[in-house]
Amino acid sequence: MSEARLNLAVQKSGRLAEGGMSLLKRAGLRFGYGRDALHRRAENMPLDLLLLRDDDIPSFVAGGACDYGIVGENVLYEAQARSERYGGLEVVLRLGFAGCTLKLAAPKDGSVRGVEDLEGRAVATSYPGLTRRYLEERGIIAEIVEMRGSVEVAPRLGIADAICDLVSTGATLEANGLAAFETVLESEAVLIRRRNGRNGPVAEVAATLIQRAEGVIASAQTKYILLNAPTAKLPDIKALLPGSDAPTVAAVAGRDDVVAVHAVCREQVFWETLEKLKAAGARAILVLPIEKMMA
Ligand code: ATP
Ligand code: MG
Repeated sequence: MSEARLNLAVQKSGRLAEGGMSLLKRAGLRFGYGRDALHRRAENMPLDLLLLRDDDIPSFVAGGACDYGIVGENVLYEAQARSERYGGLEVVLRLGFAGCTLKLAAPKDGSVRGVEDLEGRAVATSYPGLTRRYLEERGIIAEIVEMRGSVEVAPRLGIADAICDLVSTGATLEANGLAAFETVLESEAVLIRRRNGRNGPVAEVAATLIQRAEGVIASAQTKYILLNAPTAKLPDIKALLPGSDAPTVAAVAGRDDVVAVHAVCREQVFWETLEKLKAAGARAILVLPIEKMMA
């Protein structure tokens, strides 16, 4: 491993792998083959990927084998709740994908309705560190049953009274007759590093990567809106443009009752917004994606 190349840990396959690779590609990185199945080499930046199980990523970054990593906050904070070894890791950037929530849930018609009902009960989870800390902070002493997977079947099998598990749509809970009653953590994919990582050329590569990733994330959430507005309705229409402070207003050739409005909107643009704009008098409304951004 050459000294001057940045080592970035990403998940080998799974929910974080897809979003992570897509982000890196949109940030302009092109990858060739690495020297083995564990490595991939960027062809146009001094950067190497290490392809790992997501659970191993905090360990590789904390130990210095990797400079940076892409991991779920759930995995990072669980590692930190379990061991001081991970205290030196920090979140550099929230990446806006792989969103999920760590929730406490219990059988729908059972006696566990809230956190206070967990006193003296058993909670099955793959996140014993976060679950124990959450309950302790609320003065609840419960037995933590650690499971690697299929946590949602624990109550039915009589192994636990409740579970603490990741939820995205809630379909798995529903299918197992469970209902969530408390949120322990809101999680998304994040870029992490050691607080006192390598300086010099590697830090410069990292700074470029972070700046580009910020641009990719910002542009994914940002849209460019073009429309024609009756001059008299301009204040109403400006007020309806989501997350835009200073739209450009330009003349429309041969018309003095209509102006063209161009705006960068830093929030999602819903159909409802377009309907309101139209009702306010806007016409020829176009919403365009923005490919790249740099402030
Ligand atoms: P690995 O083989 O790398 O250990 P895994 O099975 O642990 O993979 P995935 O299921 O790919 O991992 O999930 C990776 C991450 O995706 C999770 O840690 C979490 O941050 C995020 N995630 C988003 N939605 C969900 C969900 N519904 N269930 C589980 N994880 C989710
Ligand atoms: Mg895993």
